[in-house]
Amino acid sequence: MDFEEFRIRGKEMVDFIIDYLKTVEQRPVYPAVQPGYLRPLIPDSAPQDPDSYEDLMKDVERVIMPGVTHWQSPHFHAYFPASISFPGMLGDMLSGAIGCIGFTWAASPACTELETVMLDWLGKMLNLPEEFLAGTGSEGGGVIQSTASESTLVALLAAKRKMITQVQANNPDVEESMIMSKLVAYTSDQSHSSVERAGLIGGTKMRKLSTDEKFSLRGETLKQALEEDKALGLIPFFLCATLGTTPSCSFDNIMELGPICNSENIWMHIDAAYAGSAFICPEFRPLLNGVEFSNSFNFNPHKWLLVNFDCSAMWVKKRSEIIGAFKMDPLYLKHDHQDSGVITDYRHWQIPLGRRFRSLKMWFVLRLYGVKGLQEFIRKHVNLAHEFESLVRQDERFEVVGDVVLGLVCFRIKLQQSSSTDYLLPLNLTKKKNQQASSTLRVSFYCTFISQIQK
Ligand SMILES: *Cc1c(COP(=O)(O)O)cnc(C)c1O
Repeated sequence: MDFEEFRIRGKEMVDFIIDYLKTVEQRPVYPAVQPGYLRPLIPDSAPQDPDSYEDLMKDVERVIMPGVTHWQSPHFHAYFPASISFPGMLGDMLSGAIGCIGFTWAASPACTELETVMLDWLGKMLNLPEEFLAGTGSEGGGVIQSTASESTLVALLAAKRKMITQVQANNPDVEESMIMSKLVAYTSDQSHSSVERAGLIGGTKMRKLSTDEKFSLRGETLKQALEEDKALGLIPFFLCATLGTTPSCSFDNIMELGPICNSENIWMHIDAAYAGSAFICPEFRPLLNGVEFSNSFNFNPHKWLLVNFDCSAMWVKKRSEIIGAFKMDPLYLKHDHQDSGVITDYRHWQIPLGRRFRSLKMWFVLRLYGVKGLQEFIRKHVNLAHEFESLVRQDERFEVVGDVVLGLVCFRIKLQQSSSTDYLLPLNLTKKKNQQASSTLRVSFYCTFISQIQK
């Protein structure tokens, strides 16, 4: 494919995308295929001689589309949304063309510098404390990770390194393996599986603490666990609190948890993967109160802020704590400005070396929607969720489970009418206390940007 053919195919692809998105509503959201459906539809191995572009595109409809779950369909209510937008797609296209791998400042200065500034823009939109913003002369700053899972892991690993260093500073003879065996991290029984996984990967104990009747982790519960564990000689070092849990969009009480973590020298990480986008609206910002106590905070613009996957925004209060945890300096990655103190080498902030120019799509989205456009987008979904909630409440067969705060509504058949089963449990909500419950359905409200445009 040469320049001129790409010019043609590129424009055709835009047409294809528009036609797909305009009519996605008519396709079944969930594909009617069986596992293994695809292999018989294409050859066993790659072609020796090039295929034609026309044949390839025909196979997109024949092979791919029948097996696609259409996340961008207005009928899609599973999981949490994965938002896309035209500005985001265009920014991503440009990033693909520039094709830089921006692991250090020198590897592509714009890639690094735009990311730092975009995380400041976004941080200001959330009204994050200045300590988290790089441009205020603070010790903090932001980075784009691929996913919330990675952000939690990076935070846990940094916290672990910090604690090991501190313990060894006071007890130089203690072996690292000895300290590691005593480290204990905390999260709630409502947190995302990636938090437990971060403990597994990081090689530390992860205690899941129980939540109150609103599925919220409270300070008293943490305090009690700390006392028990310290009495056993363990070393508490990390808490992952959640704002907007996956099962029910509940909120841990970070106003209670934060001061305890601060006084006990425990790293508090906040996972707001889904809910974080809503904090750009002043009416939802109080949900973030207490973030000032945290060491790190994360949310996914790729979930609910119109930036195509992947884009997970993470801020830390002290850059040195995260950079110090993972620093390696081989000769082939050195450059003239690395110790100037002015620039960032994001390779020290993450697990992989390579990184895409992801801030470009964020820049496109923030500029072309504006803060007001994005706020409107969030509010529309929250209103849809409340509209659905009121319909459920009017129907005496059903009951709403948990509070509807943002775009998620959980509901179930009322107890007296249901069989006594727990047979379908997509959620751990039903296991609470001695509530017996029928299965709970979870409906995530997200009106795609397409329906927004067509309105
Ligand atoms: C979606 C979600 C995650 C996982 O997000 P990834 O970016 O896919 O790792 C983690 N925590 C919460 C609260 C989530 O909503």
